[in-house]
Amino acid sequence: MVLEPATPSPSAPPLYPRIVKPRGLVGANLADYEAVCHAFSWTAARALLDGLPGGRGLNIAHEAVDRHAAGARAGREALRWIGQDGSRRTLTYRDLRAATNRFANALRGLGVAEGSAVFVLAGRIPELVIAVLGALKARCVASPLFSAFGPEPIATRLTIGEGRVLVTTGSLYRRKIAPIRAHLPQLDHVILVPEPGQGESAVPGTLDWRRIVDPASPDFVIPPTDPEDRALLHFTSGTTGRPKGAIHVHDAVVTHHITGRYALDLHDEDIFWCTADPGWVTGTSYGIVAPLTNGVTSVFAEAEFDAAAWYGILQRERVSVWYTAPTAIRMMMKLGAEAVRGYDLGHLRFLASVGEPLNPEAVLWGQEVFGRPFHDNWWQTETGGIMIANLAAMDVKPGSMGRPLPGIGAAIVQRAADGGVVPVEAPMVQGELALRAGWPSMMRGYLHEEERYRKCFVGGWYLTGDLAMRDADGYYWFVGRADDVIKSSGHLIGPFEVENALMEHPAVAEAGVIGKPDPVAGEIVKAFVALKPGFTASEALRRELLGHARKRLGAVVAPKEIEFRLVLPRTRSGKIMRRLLKARELGLPEGDLSTLESDAR
Ligand code: ATP
Ligand code: MG
Repeated sequence: MVLEPATPSPSAPPLYPRIVKPRGLVGANLADYEAVCHAFSWTAARALLDGLPGGRGLNIAHEAVDRHAAGARAGREALRWIGQDGSRRTLTYRDLRAATNRFANALRGLGVAEGSAVFVLAGRIPELVIAVLGALKARCVASPLFSAFGPEPIATRLTIGEGRVLVTTGSLYRRKIAPIRAHLPQLDHVILVPEPGQGESAVPGTLDWRRIVDPASPDFVIPPTDPEDRALLHFTSGTTGRPKGAIHVHDAVVTHHITGRYALDLHDEDIFWCTADPGWVTGTSYGIVAPLTNGVTSVFAEAEFDAAAWYGILQRERVSVWYTAPTAIRMMMKLGAEAVRGYDLGHLRFLASVGEPLNPEAVLWGQEVFGRPFHDNWWQTETGGIMIANLAAMDVKPGSMGRPLPGIGAAIVQRAADGGVVPVEAPMVQGELALRAGWPSMMRGYLHEEERYRKCFVGGWYLTGDLAMRDADGYYWFVGRADDVIKSSGHLIGPFEVENALMEHPAVAEAGVIGKPDPVAGEIVKAFVALKPGFTASEALRRELLGHARKRLGAVVAPKEIEFRLVLPRTRSGKIMRRLLKARELGLPEGDLSTLESDAR
């Protein structure tokens, strides 16, 4: 993306009240940000992990499971699964070692070669975690897919990822894989996880988990693993276009581990719940790897979002650290603080959010309702782990993504005429968010898109494609995706700022803002708005919102048009698809919709 010379939008981020931490906060893993950043080295971070015995390399599954299973945590709950129907299953670190060893042995028994891709298409069930970690033990590449995908996106991903093995369930197989199986010649084995109430009836062309995994030996020695060996393949959310396949290596576990400690503040005794599905990078890096390498108990809940069910889980499971997403938070806000009353959530001590810009209102709502702010953090599928965060012992600035993690060199850069990039030192100047290349969980490639991958790196910087600003305290403020930024009358306007202002209005549940071509201004700002329950779309409300935005943002930045929608189109990982709002507005082709969640609710 080349930034054309243009004046940044004239309004600075709003001055929301800072949430100041109690002085001398006891116990945060990262208590002294400056000192830790100064002393930090990846070598030292790597030394917090064990490595494979005998100096045979580094393997994510060993760090997540085996090293605990061989030590004092062997009997501790590693995975606490809560089924849709309320059923529960618990696996200790010792159990998880045996289960993942069985899976690794089953792959070996099938003759699956090291380096082969093992895909998992399943809801959030323990076998998903077992298959991912077992595949890593066998030095295969693991790729969990979101189970709500239809046959077409599944086929695309299995084909470009050259999936040799697929772990799924009988019902998913019948609905989604059987119709496309003939088009997947590279898929050697399909392993079906038994479903409740399902008998032994064999499905042609598949293997039964009970026959090949359960009887396999619970002993397995992880072969030597180079930290640079491929480990995980994750597809991006497809918010801006066709999803890309980002490749990560075993060394990524160093980032997963240290960010689990620093950004999520995981402590020994924590009960941690990451609500993301492992079909998205968050659900793997922080739903599987980081909590386990840190030896905590990880809650793995099958049910989709439902406020009452979620509050029930937080209370019953005594969740202490909770990692969720803006969409879910906004849905909870829509239902109001009343819905939380009556739950004892006294065990919650740290709340974090990722995936989309978190509007300041949502941060403050956390403080009001849970007694703690949501700590926004920023990262991408490509970065593999949290890069920028509001940290436990730091002031939270609502609306800001926080500060770079130790070991992460971040900058705001602008493109120079010679094709290079120049870091911008002055505070509150918009530019592209860039990271110094070389942290362990940095993607090592886009699958089959070498050229696109290469273009992400300029002069030792990884260019994120997101626009942001840095304030004088070193906090980063998200402006928008480079693709979504609006150029209106010579000003660069970030949709996030406009959406935030609209969401301050009591009637607005969510907002999506686009640039609409205009012969005079270049583009004008147009907002799509969904209302909270109890509010009805009307001309009067539209005018009121236009007036509110103008007062709040000034005439240049405020939307010129507002349109009401029942819901906004979003990806299955919960992100507003502004490109789709725009394509529909302009009557343009809608592009890849494989990750679109139904927006016709
Ligand atoms: P695609 O790359 O396929 O268009 P995507 O970028 O949505 O999809 P992800 O890797 O899942 O795929 O999402 C990363 C992006 O999400 C970031 O680049 C950023 O635009 C947005 N994002 C994530 N966390 C935050 C945050 N805390 N604040 C603002 N934006 C965020
Ligand atoms: Mg992206």
